[in-house]
Amino acid sequence: MSRKKIDMIVKAPHFYTMEGDGVGHRQGVSMAVDGGGILEIQESAVIEEKYQAEERVELSHHAVFPGFIDAHMHTSYNILRGLAQDTGNWMMYGLQPFDNAATDEARDAGSCVAIIEALRAGTTTLGDFDTHMENVCRFIEKVGARGNITQTVRAAKFRVYDPGELYEFDDVQGEESLARNIALYDRWHGRAGGRIRILFGPQGVDFLSIQMLQKVRKIAKERGTKIHMHVQQGDRETYQIVKRYGKRPVELLDDLDFLDGDLIAVHLTDCTDEEAALVARRGASMIVNPGSIAIIDGIVCPSVAFQNAGGNVALGSDQAPGNNCHNIINEMKNVALFNKIKFGDPEIMPAWRALRMATIEGARAVGLGDLVGSLEQGKRADFIAVDLSAPSMLPVYTYPMRNIVPNLVYSARGPEVVLSAVEGKIIMRDGKILAIDERDYLEAAAKYPEELGRRAADEFFAIDGTNAHFMREGKL
Ligand SMILES: [Zn+2]
Repeated sequence: MSRKKIDMIVKAPHFYTMEGDGVGHRQGVSMAVDGGGILEIQESAVIEEKYQAEERVELSHHAVFPGFIDAHMHTSYNILRGLAQDTGNWMMYGLQPFDNAATDEARDAGSCVAIIEALRAGTTTLGDFDTHMENVCRFIEKVGARGNITQTVRAAKFRVYDPGELYEFDDVQGEESLARNIALYDRWHGRAGGRIRILFGPQGVDFLSIQMLQKVRKIAKERGTKIHMHVQQGDRETYQIVKRYGKRPVELLDDLDFLDGDLIAVHLTDCTDEEAALVARRGASMIVNPGSIAIIDGIVCPSVAFQNAGGNVALGSDQAPGNNCHNIINEMKNVALFNKIKFGDPEIMPAWRALRMATIEGARAVGLGDLVGSLEQGKRADFIAVDLSAPSMLPVYTYPMRNIVPNLVYSARGPEVVLSAVEGKIIMRDGKILAIDERDYLEAAAKYPEELGRRAADEFFAIDGTNAHFMREGKL
């Protein structure tokens, strides 16, 4: 019998397929890949007998996992990394002076660095959400990653509001931002060999009129794509909605029939467990960004209540001036640790659960569950290899228990991921992204801080926030 010619065979001592309810551990198997998809995962001898591969990926001391999903990112803020943490009123006292000083060009440069950082730590699907997404789409296409991209739709005017003041809606601005979201969808949805998808992004229920919100929803539904929206993301949002409509954001969204399987709800920071459970029961999914919301608000969001109500939860890294990294391994550890502390219970969020949130549960949450998030026949071949000989992964036990998943979640930092592939194509090997010269992008980002800092200085010192104090007191 002649062997069938295929694109790739991947052989490794351990596969974590994420099939079933656990982590789907398999040993002594190989994965056959063709046309960007997974043909089958079978005993290595069977695979060798059936197939002849163009490319062989022989991994002698590695574990193969599905590529990680970073479901919620604002990569353009990466140009402001480390400039807004450790302060109350993060947006006004921390972010604002630098945000006002950042140019579009600087933001694009920041996005590239964030994406490089994420890919190096095993992320293969990037859930970026912002206002200028053309260049992000182009860069994701170039590096060969997968993008689940959202354009911000917002009618609230960009200006400083007094405490307690309602946001002022500008319908022209709202319509323009929606038109940009539609244009991005028309240009990019399904592009890059199907690797890029475009979602619709009302920034939050407080930033748009009800009419506008319903219009966005109708447009997204007509196109069969999802809404990716911040929901009850803080007491500020709750205040705005209660003052305007006399009810809390989740209640309002429920009355508008907004809570359904087409909604990906981000944060739920100010939700009670009951409100989070209601969102889950209505069929919406959740993205939790543990590092970001810990640094910005000092809050652990109700992802456990959401999961207990049967909802899917994905992990996100959010942004670099208040997280401060785009590393989903970090978020797996954060979500596990923070919930153990919140509940005073070491069993509440085990490592395997965090890994499912970064893979299969995350994929389902963002509408990609039919494509990625697990390694099984018929899915796209998005996978990573973790080096089990890295100091942080050693020693490896397989009996009486395996410690590979706990080591990945609690001990790994990112460089343990030595290979990433998307659609059966290797895009990162030994920490290097193959399609680009990373130095071009890393050096480009280094050009901006001097001028951006100078432009931000007056406002930074006028606000005289925590970080201005730290700077004066020799603490930075
Ligand atoms: Zn966000």
